[in-house]
Amino acid sequence: MLSTKAVLNNHAWPLQEIFNVYNKASFERKVNEILASAAEFKTIDLTTATESDQLQWLAEFARLDIAFDTLESALKLANVQHEIWIDETKSGSVMAELEKVLASSTECFITWMEQCSASAGWPTWAVQLKLEFVSDDNSLAGSFCGKKYSPRHFIDQLKQIIKPSGDGCIPINLQKRCTKMGWNSGDQIARLLLSDKAANYHPYFSRYIINNKSDITDVRLAESKPWGDFKFNFDEAIGIIIACFKQLDSDLSTMIDQAIVQGRIKVSHSSLSNSFCMDTPVGSFISLQFNGGLSDLALLAHECGHLIHQQVIRNKFQLAQNVNEELSETIAIFFESWVVKYWGELTGNEIVATAWEHHRDIEWQGRHSMLANFELSLYQQEKFSVKELDRLWREVNHRFYGSSVTLNQNFSQQWLTLTHILHSPFYYLIYPSASLKAKRYMKEPMDVLSMLERF
Ligand SMILES: [Zn+2]
Repeated sequence: MLSTKAVLNNHAWPLQEIFNVYNKASFERKVNEILASAAEFKTIDLTTATESDQLQWLAEFARLDIAFDTLESALKLANVQHEIWIDETKSGSVMAELEKVLASSTECFITWMEQCSASAGWPTWAVQLKLEFVSDDNSLAGSFCGKKYSPRHFIDQLKQIIKPSGDGCIPINLQKRCTKMGWNSGDQIARLLLSDKAANYHPYFSRYIINNKSDITDVRLAESKPWGDFKFNFDEAIGIIIACFKQLDSDLSTMIDQAIVQGRIKVSHSSLSNSFCMDTPVGSFISLQFNGGLSDLALLAHECGHLIHQQVIRNKFQLAQNVNEELSETIAIFFESWVVKYWGELTGNEIVATAWEHHRDIEWQGRHSMLANFELSLYQQEKFSVKELDRLWREVNHRFYGSSVTLNQNFSQQWLTLTHILHSPFYYLIYPSASLKAKRYMKEPMDVLSMLERF
């Protein structure tokens, strides 16, 4: 039987043990090892090398990349939980410096890798590595750091990323997102404008309005309240998830079992902690705000969905960093819906489970479209000011929630929390389409397995 109690009592990942076991070295020694192996790349010239030498260096590069990723993720996770064995002030600069050294030492190797063609004699892993390497953009730094911005700072950043695109032009950042996802940008804009005008969601919110008018904070609170009536402790929640995943495939539940045994799932009751699932070469780490309601069960299932997706990619690819974001959210949303449905059937709460799904549709398809709409409206601005952003933010929310929902003064600067706008433009667009795809998988759940196998 799994002992989850240890994780709950510590509220911490056993990072030092996990990373040391895998690294077989202390943190500082690992930095030096990486530096030493990077230095070996400096002088090599593979253009005239034998095939066996080329393969040896390819394998060496994969090891170097994994060593760096392991260290980097250990640092990020250690910073999240303020581990005393990490000097937080120094760690960022150590990694930045290390990254610089790595980039310059491997420059020749990288040029060779980009220009060479995989030889017919290469084993599959090497061919795969070359393919991965070319598309490895190392962009998955994760958004879990939860950096806080002042309004001034946010607007300064905004000015840097938003370039005037002229009247009627599609913002370049939206075009980039659409290209990445294989979408037509014109279709996306049309969809956004349509979803905004429809005001489809007013009847849903009207049920939470008392005396013709309610404040948004009260509406959001009333909206989340019913799910808190269903109680789960962590062991029960994870037990439901494991049993549910096992029905689809026992490999899925084994991945969750392993994460628990290794202490990679950390829960906290604090409303200040972020929930995320972070991919590392030694397995995915979950941080979860867990207060024991139905929403918490679903959130745990969502993060476990990310864990499975990341693990499947890690098992197959060596550099393993290019997670397709839409696919990742599709899988996570599918697993959260699937687990709630399973729980509903198990406990005779099918009606609750259906209501839950409807409520999530509004969150993913409605509210996230509204957020993307707000972002789009920023690109039509000539000047940015706190006042103007407040006005746009209130306007877009007003259209979504309807005129019976009042927006208090504190609500004005809530746009400050939308840091995706700065770090990952038009990320909000991913959720509505991921949610629609997840719904299709709900009808044919076995298709999720064949999709995972195709990686
Ligand atoms: Zn997610």
